[in-house]
Amino acid sequence: MPLSRRVRSISPSSTLAITAMAKRMQAEGIDVISFAGGEPEFDTPEHVKAAGIRAVRDGFTKYTAPAGIEELRDAVVAKLKRDNGLEYTQDEVVTCSGSKQALYNLAMVFFDKRDEVIIPAPYWVSYPEQVRLADATPVFAPTREEEGFRLKRGDLERVLTRRTKAVILNSPCNPTGAVIELDELKAIAELAVEKDFYLVSDEAYEALTYDGVKHVSIASLGEEVKARTFVVGSTSKTYAMTGWRLGYAAGPKEIIKAMIDLQSHSTSAPASPSQKAAVAALLGPRETVESMRREFEKRRRYLLERLHGIPGVRCVPPEGAFYAFPNVSAFYGKKVARGRKISSSTDLTAYLIQEARVTVVPGADFGSDKHVRISYCLGMEQIRDGLERMAKALEQLK
Ligand code: PMP
Ligand code: GLU
Repeated sequence: MPLSRRVRSISPSSTLAITAMAKRMQAEGIDVISFAGGEPEFDTPEHVKAAGIRAVRDGFTKYTAPAGIEELRDAVVAKLKRDNGLEYTQDEVVTCSGSKQALYNLAMVFFDKRDEVIIPAPYWVSYPEQVRLADATPVFAPTREEEGFRLKRGDLERVLTRRTKAVILNSPCNPTGAVIELDELKAIAELAVEKDFYLVSDEAYEALTYDGVKHVSIASLGEEVKARTFVVGSTSKTYAMTGWRLGYAAGPKEIIKAMIDLQSHSTSAPASPSQKAAVAALLGPRETVESMRREFEKRRRYLLERLHGIPGVRCVPPEGAFYAFPNVSAFYGKKVARGRKISSSTDLTAYLIQEARVTVVPGADFGSDKHVRISYCLGMEQIRDGLERMAKALEQLK
């Protein structure tokens, strides 16, 4: 049966596919340690769960307004003011079924044929596909490992054309953990105003930064840049709420309105109990956010130490999110059993599953074939065991 032209070249999200594969293997009783998962393994905080349960008990189980309930949009407005110093009104905010949906809606209403959308690389797997689904063209702006993959104004200038409609920023970055430096953020904001392009700022990992590094939303750097920025946020990582599917976008209201109208014909609105839970998350106590961050910080330190101890592995310290993105290209050209050679991040990933029962995500899926992504969303003991297995398997490569 013929598929629509639109989806013919779409590939499934590899992050989700590999995570699902690891879960399947675990369910079959295979002892797999998964470094692939892009979600905190912590439980959703109790007060958030309670708000969701209360919503269901109270019969808050019907459709809501497509943009989400007013109480939730107001909570997003309050959060953006409290955490990011941003002033928005309710009609400048839409809530969606995850920030992935917010980004998708934005791509659909804002990008067109002939538009170019710059995506700094390495990038999160869904950006290029969403841009293509909107019939626009993704243009990649490589960052450099030697500079910790931190995006610089010059990286954008190099690929900017008259057709550039927008740049997708993701700081802290999935997969590298890079956080854009404040001076560069200012320089990028100036460039956007000067050259008249828009910014999509995906701040899903804003609450997870380490070693004293702080997240700054580019929209907070002045009215001119705010007027051309869409801030996209999520409850998924900050509150361990991935399955509740609740994200949002804030920005110029004519585009937000179009996103709401589009949503009214697609998902209708985010799930109503999830909306109530998200209100509790956004406005409730902050202790769980900080305790999760601290735990991630501990794991990150340990992971980096151990990775540095594996001959052939190089890893720039990630400043945020919950991933490390080590360079493993020293193993390319080495032989596995029966004379087969490792020649890519995909080969190495397959080898690690087979030999070490450890899953990672190939860097190729994020636009960098020299690397693999290791998520530290798992307990310290598993991190230790997983790295031990990985080190042993890598040592065998000759
Ligand atoms: N942006 C980035 C950078 C991500 O890694 C993810 C995946 N967790 C998302 C957006 C989407 O998250 P969600 O839809 O759960 O809000
Ligand atoms: N964003 C997470 C990841 O990169 C979850 C999976 C996804 O949505 O891509 O692993």
